[in-house]
Amino acid sequence: MATIGFIGLGNMGGPMAINLVKGGHSVKAFDLSDEAIQRVVSEGGSAAASAKEAVMDADFVVSMLPAGKHVQGLFVTGDDPLFEYVKDGALIIDSSTIDAATARQVADAAQARGISFIDAPVSGGVGGAVAGTLAFMVGASDAEFAKAKPVLDCMGKNIFHAGAHGAGQVAKACNNMLLAILMTGTSEALNMGMKNGLDPAVLSEIMKQSSGNNWALQVYNPVPGVMDGVPSSNDYQGGFQVDLMFKDLGLAMEMSQQSASPVPMGSQARALFNLHKVNGNGGLDFSSVLKLYQDQ
Ligand code: NAD
Repeated sequence: MATIGFIGLGNMGGPMAINLVKGGHSVKAFDLSDEAIQRVVSEGGSAAASAKEAVMDADFVVSMLPAGKHVQGLFVTGDDPLFEYVKDGALIIDSSTIDAATARQVADAAQARGISFIDAPVSGGVGGAVAGTLAFMVGASDAEFAKAKPVLDCMGKNIFHAGAHGAGQVAKACNNMLLAILMTGTSEALNMGMKNGLDPAVLSEIMKQSSGNNWALQVYNPVPGVMDGVPSSNDYQGGFQVDLMFKDLGLAMEMSQQSASPVPMGSQARALFNLHKVNGNGGLDFSSVLKLYQDQ
């Protein structure tokens, strides 16, 4: 079993690190929050006093940080960049959702230093992180992917090799843009049905068995009370925050601009989530975008 340095033990990183411990790995955990470190230590991980200490003897490093500037700063451009301390031959797996251009830049800087850095963003939310059922979208060479796979298997169920460095982040941006379009579209249809007297549970079932069927209707219905155990039936608490969806849509818009890809539906979804966020709903689950229609 491997020695793994884990940096960024938040909502996602904490349970992911714990699943690596459960998989038999020796996990050295670091976060800016002591409380977050202690949660992993109480499950059998060991505390690192600094990011540097977490990575020094590690065969693998996993990072789960908020955004591209944190990843680039920590590994390459910060005061004490970790690339100086990672041992030769180590593999760094960054599972943060960041822009593909930064992921490629950091991977190039790693290669120049004789180490490997791959992008492996995830889908599946906090529930998937806790259950160890995340989907990983990996941007890596064949050899890097093969080396990372047993580690990713401890934290996820579906591990996809999307392509070369940066490809995992491209896949993630495409997926989350589509998810935003699906959720706003589903909310729009359900709201119109309800305004015209339909029971949302009946309408949901009809559309699920018809050509409007989609993931939101199947497992994440946005109308409170239609489905048990989803954020909409819990005051839109937990799940995937509007703020994070808004961030991901920003990454998708950046990518569309850089690649001259038309994204009229994605930009409309971003405008809707922006409006919903400035209305004070940034901390709610993203399925709460239904309220935007109902509040009009
Ligand atoms: P979070 O804010 O809960 O956790 C981020 C952690 O990083 C925090 O504990 C913070 O203290 C730590 N951190 C920040 N800078 C650091 C540094 N320099 N050194 C050490 N630790 C540092 O965020 P999260 O929800 O866990 O999300 C992490 C990433 O995963 C984001 O990129 C997010 O977009 C992505 N993601 C989140 C979800 C979700 O449902 N929450 C789903 C898929 C992907």
